[in-house]
Amino acid sequence: MVPIFSKNMSNNLFVCECNSYEHILIVSSDEELCYISIHLAPLPILKRIWNGISYIFGKRSNYGNFEEIILGPEKLNELIKILQKQQ
Ligand SMILES: [Zn+2]
Repeated sequence: MVPIFSKNMSNNLFVCECNSYEHILIVSSDEELCYISIHLAPLPILKRIWNGISYIFGKRSNYGNFEEIILGPEKLNELIKILQKQQ
């Protein structure tokens, strides 16, 4: 879901500790709502087609399909502060 941004919405970008721009988390929040967007890493076209076909036919990994973003203590504290404002 793409967040609908308001004038009061703040955006915070968290880059993974591995410093890859393929691992980015964007937290957009205002007084009421908080959107957490995870950047999807671009894959080569054949891999995307294969993933799409696999998804259509319900093929899943035993572990599910996940990507991770590693946040160090400083970034984690920043994320916690943003989330605590939402309470
Ligand atoms: Zn990473």
